Amino acid sequence: MTVCNSCRYCEGLCAVFPAMEMRRAFSDGDLNYFANLCHACGACYTDCQFSPPHEYNVNVPQNLAAARVESWAAYAWPRAFSGLFARNGLAISIIAALSVAAFIFGFAAFNDRQVLLGIHTGPGAFYALMPHNAMAALFGAAFLYAIVALVMGVRAFWRDIGEPVGMLADPGSLWQAIKDASQLRYLDGGGVGCFNEDERPTDHRKIYHHLTFYGFGLCFAATCVATLYHFLLAREAPYPWWDLPVVLGTLGGIGLLVGPAGLLAEKFKRDPALVDEKRTGMDVAFIVMLFLTGFTGIVLLLLRETAAMGPLLALHLGFVFALFVTMPYGKFVHCLYRFVALVRYARERRMMAHTV
Ligand code: SF4
Ligand code: SF4
Repeated sequence: MTVCNSCRYCEGLCAVFPAMEMRRAFSDGDLNYFANLCHACGACYTDCQFSPPHEYNVNVPQNLAAARVESWAAYAWPRAFSGLFARNGLAISIIAALSVAAFIFGFAAFNDRQVLLGIHTGPGAFYALMPHNAMAALFGAAFLYAIVALVMGVRAFWRDIGEPVGMLADPGSLWQAIKDASQLRYLDGGGVGCFNEDERPTDHRKIYHHLTFYGFGLCFAATCVATLYHFLLAREAPYPWWDLPVVLGTLGGIGLLVGPAGLLAEKFKRDPALVDEKRTGMDVAFIVMLFLTGFTGIVLLLLRETAAMGPLLALHLGFVFALFVTMPYGKFVHCLYRFVALVRYARERRMMAHTV
């Protein structure tokens, strides 16, 4: 960063370099802020005259990738779980396997064979296998825990970068950050595209990331609408194919199939110089979890009126539950930390504009 701050060649590529140029010295909090502001487009490695084989060995994307994961571990709540970031691929795989196994054995233990492998149709069909209240309590608790753990982590990050917690609610900066995050403004190498496997930039990673992000968002919206249907309108799932929760869930599920599959393909093509190889397991585990959540959801939708519905529901709920409980301890956190870094960057820009 000190070399970059003298050089400043990359200042038009993304938000990291302008943020860096506002400082003369860098605290640990500042470095964590830069690391989470970086979108890993790779442009500053390709453009750098001091990158390997130059003796300065400047490799901003790789160093910020490593610093990012270290920051997530440092801010994890409770601290006892920060070790889950160390061998994250293994940890997520074990938790997912246990979760899926628990749902399968639970379904088998609490339902007799005719119910488990029976054909259930119409409103309330899913609840023949697991009562709605039990499902809502289990997933509500897991979701609440994830929210608390994520908020505590973000709070620690925001304090570490030197901002009072109230400033996170600055409307102008929030709106700018929402626009930047929703467009992935800084995953474009300064306008030419993302560098992945070679020196030819493309928009592939951006497109697959959008499909994944908006696919996840649509699936979440489908769950929220279904919850409102259940509690406000007394309408029980499963719903017909044309109804809002199914339409949202289907579109989201397709996004979660295509987006993660594309991201995984891009990851395996990525130039090793750009990645922190120790963390590949974390990235792959998160992408695969999203894919399996979308895949089991779509298969369940297609086969929900057959005898396969019971085992498929157990499988889908197992992956969704594992996704919820591991959200604060895996790659999912990058959404929040990057967004918060964008809020901070927007605030700095606005303050600087006012000063000028
Ligand atoms: S990455 Fe290289 S070219 Fe870019 S600012 Fe840093 S030293 Fe300069
Ligand atoms: S990899 Fe891209 S986003 Fe990250 S610092 Fe370099 S140019 Fe900026």
